[in-house]
Amino acid sequence: MSNSKNAKTQEFRRPVIKKKHCVFCSENIEDIDYKNIERLRRFMTEKGKIYPRRVSGNCAKHQRKLSRAIKRARYMGLLPYIVK
Ligand SMILES: [Zn+2]
Repeated sequence: MSNSKNAKTQEFRRPVIKKKHCVFCSENIEDIDYKNIERLRRFMTEKGKIYPRRVSGNCAKHQRKLSRAIKRARYMGLLPYIVK
């Protein structure tokens, strides 16, 4: 029992952050469809804001495409700008 994998490290103050990966990269999605609202919804808060990259875990390229898709969907009336 000398080589235990459950050895506790000395990270007391650091909150546990799961290592995030870009969903679109892992699924090999190049272009994000603005009509795919259910997918876009997952990256928005319930108030209609877009999650920042450190929360969503997307890479910069896909986050940019995502925000563009969401903004386009808003313009088309598919997604709300602000939910009160
Ligand atoms: Zn990506």
